[in-house]
Amino acid sequence: KRFIVGLTGGIGSGKSTVARLFNQLGIPAVDADIVAREVVAKGSPLLAKIVDHFGPQLLTPQQTLNRPLLRQLIFNDPAAKQWLDSVMHPAIRTEMLQQLANLPPAPYVLLIAPLLLENKLDTLVNRVLVVDISERNQLSRTLSRDGVSAQQVQAIIASQISRPERLALADDIIDNNSESTDITNGGAAATLQPQVQQLHQRYLDLAKHLDL
Ligand code: ATP
Repeated sequence: KRFIVGLTGGIGSGKSTVARLFNQLGIPAVDADIVAREVVAKGSPLLAKIVDHFGPQLLTPQQTLNRPLLRQLIFNDPAAKQWLDSVMHPAIRTEMLQQLANLPPAPYVLLIAPLLLENKLDTLVNRVLVVDISERNQLSRTLSRDGVSAQQVQAIIASQISRPERLALADDIIDNNSESTDITNGGAAATLQPQVQQLHQRYLDLAKHLDL
């Protein structure tokens, strides 16, 4: 059994950036978004199940999942969405736990999950760490990173848990509002590094004293 820190935050808040800083301290991570893709990879039993349920048009000519079509099918169809969640969530959960257990030896590990709180994955972790930024910064950083419209970003923000609710559920909070100009290539906001360093010490301590 390992000490798991759940790393969450809204779209464009800086989860990947923060995870990279922990990684530089020797702390490995599992990314829930990557796991969610792996469980429906080409040839997987879960992909077969989904195709069985929604029909063969869900497969691309390359035999991979047609994600845009799936998104379209569950959009405005709560029953379809519910069925999909009912097969996806347990599979993702199982695979995440397996990957967390198989990470290289480390005093504690990270689970990066944008929807940690929304999908109640916080039951799997010992500690909830929230990367916090204002909605204004969320919008501008996501817009400059992805080729999407402001409306699309707003819609995603609206679909996620609200900032106050997220903060209320946090054990620890990283403030990533301070703007950095050299964020690429492993750089990070100068204010981020000391916050990560301080949390690292706390987690080392908590992991050591955890009764496992
Ligand atoms: P998502 O959930 O959308 O994948 P995320 O929470 O992992 O996002 P990042 O990808 O780490 O967020 O950061 C979003 C964007 O903002 C990236 O382009 C990143 O380089 C940039 N960024 C992160 N922190 C800062 C900062 N302090 N100053 C300026 N830019 C930042």
